[in-house]
Amino acid sequence: TNRGESEQTIAVVGAGLVGCLAAAAFKKKGYNVTLFELRDDPSKEAKRENLRSINLAVSDRGIDAMKYVDEKLADEVMKKTIPMKGRMIHDASGLKQESQVYGLFGEHINSIDRSYLNDVLLEHLKNIGVEVLFKHKFLGVHFKHNGKPILTFRDLATQNENHLQKEYDFVVGSDGAYSRFRYQLQKTMKMNVAQEYIDMNYLELRIPAGPQGQFMIDPNHLHIWPRHKFMLIALANKDGSFTSTFFAPSAVFASLKAPQDFSSFVQKHFPDAYQLIGKKDLEQSFDANPVCSLMQVRSYPYHNPQGNCVIIGDAAHSMVPFYGQGMNCGFEDVRVLMELIDANGGDIYKATKAYSDARKDDLDAICKLALDNYHEMSSKVTSVGYLFKKRIDYFLGKYCNGRFFQWLPLYTMISFRADVPYSRAIQIAKRQDRILNLIQLSSVSAVVIFAAAKWSHAIHKLTSK
Ligand code: FAD
Repeated sequence: TNRGESEQTIAVVGAGLVGCLAAAAFKKKGYNVTLFELRDDPSKEAKRENLRSINLAVSDRGIDAMKYVDEKLADEVMKKTIPMKGRMIHDASGLKQESQVYGLFGEHINSIDRSYLNDVLLEHLKNIGVEVLFKHKFLGVHFKHNGKPILTFRDLATQNENHLQKEYDFVVGSDGAYSRFRYQLQKTMKMNVAQEYIDMNYLELRIPAGPQGQFMIDPNHLHIWPRHKFMLIALANKDGSFTSTFFAPSAVFASLKAPQDFSSFVQKHFPDAYQLIGKKDLEQSFDANPVCSLMQVRSYPYHNPQGNCVIIGDAAHSMVPFYGQGMNCGFEDVRVLMELIDANGGDIYKATKAYSDARKDDLDAICKLALDNYHEMSSKVTSVGYLFKKRIDYFLGKYCNGRFFQWLPLYTMISFRADVPYSRAIQIAKRQDRILNLIQLSSVSAVVIFAAAKWSHAIHKLTSK
């Protein structure tokens, strides 16, 4: 709904992917929106072409939310994506690759350049007249006697010691996993926050394009080199290269002291990736790129008692990246909040209060699922039992999709069915998993009985001779 009449002022803190979409969504509803961002305007940054290209997977929940905000915006974003129809599993010898498709009917997730996505969102904000104030560092929030939030910022461009203070009707905190807004808001209310580091670090690498700018491995797959305790993944970029990420526990990183240790490690465990990246680039990346840590943040409630502040995206729920849902889920936050504003007749405060209840189970569910999926990506994808169950899951999903009975594999529900809430998807998957276990057990029993029958038949033949 586009009301276009509201004079209410909204501040969005943090112009990351989620903050930008939130600002666009509020503007479309007619609010007077200002977006504050710590960093400089990316379009003004010099030597952008030298920046590492970092990509991520956008799937149906993210696309749906962008379409909800603006169909044309979603089209613009999707112009530069690369479809990934499945996982490509690279074995330890470096000689074999196996495709495991994601969708039952050709559905796919999409690789997109993070900075391209950010640029398109910022350009859209410019076009629709949202005021974006870069180099504005959010410092604190306090509340007037009438309950209205007053935000304090430092203008980093002028280095003015006088802080900027401004009152708003409503504030959205979308300043990422280490959210200062969340921290400051938490001081004014009872908000539970749990932050947990995962014993898994990551290092970004790059598989270069071939001599003619061509892809050296299939661009339409998410490549995985699963090695149980650690793994390598790669997603294609439009220029023929791949952004690759090496995930490993701290102990593995600690054992790799020098760049040469790292290139030898890659040569031993990921021989085909070693050929693709090359010793020199591996060592250079090890030297130059940071080893980053992974953490999970969960908070509750997401709003303050007055209903005039809310946290969304990573500020409210930072998850590990193994289901490729962090941003998709943050975009979904925006859609859910907007739908609640509509459902509450445009009363933003009522909507915010309803938001925490509406969202808690789903956010808890996806954070847990993201954590569990590391095991699936790094180990289970190579196990015979898992592959057998996956085949049956796929078969049932493909052929049992009538009006009265529908089988939906978990991956399909999370990545391709934005209409199935995360928590509902887990409930359905648990029920289906019990059936899959029964099928697996009966298949194993049938094989054992068949083998035993054959064996006793052979014994009988031998002894009766
Ligand atoms: P951020 O992107 O962190 O943006 C926060 C913004 O707030 C930043 O611009 C920051 O500069 C600004 N800010 C911070 N502090 C202040 C302040 N004091 N004042 C003003 N501004 C401030 N998600 C997916 O959906 N698919 C994927 O494939 C995927 N892959 C991932 C791979 C890796 C390795 C990682 C680490 C994450 C991945 N994610 C993925 C998750 C995704 O990156 C995040 O969920 C998403 O970026 C969150 O967006 P956000 O806008 O909430 O936060």
